[in-house]
Amino acid sequence: MSEICPRCGLPKEICVCSVLDKEVATKIRVFTQKAKFNKVVTVVDGIGSDQIEEATKNLKKMLACGGTYKDSTIELQGKHINEVKSALVKMGFKEDNIDLQ
Ligand SMILES: [Zn+2]
Repeated sequence: MSEICPRCGLPKEICVCSVLDKEVATKIRVFTQKAKFNKVVTVVDGIGSDQIEEATKNLKKMLACGGTYKDSTIELQGKHINEVKSALVKMGFKEDNIDLQ
């Protein structure tokens, strides 16, 4: 027997939950802001709570920087606007949903 998706109850081969999640995702905003001690952080806002932990892990790895997340906001150390965008696209987020500011 194939594995069953815990969310929709369909076999994993035909389940589209994870695809839908990414498609209906609201706008992801990417911007920089000043953090403590005059440092700059890149903020990624709008990734859903079910994906944010993995997204943070991937971004830290792909950009080789430190970072944390809280609620729907990821904070990465340093300035990485364009790198974050291409990393998110590689992870499967739609380019049109990513807003650079
Ligand atoms: Zn499903």
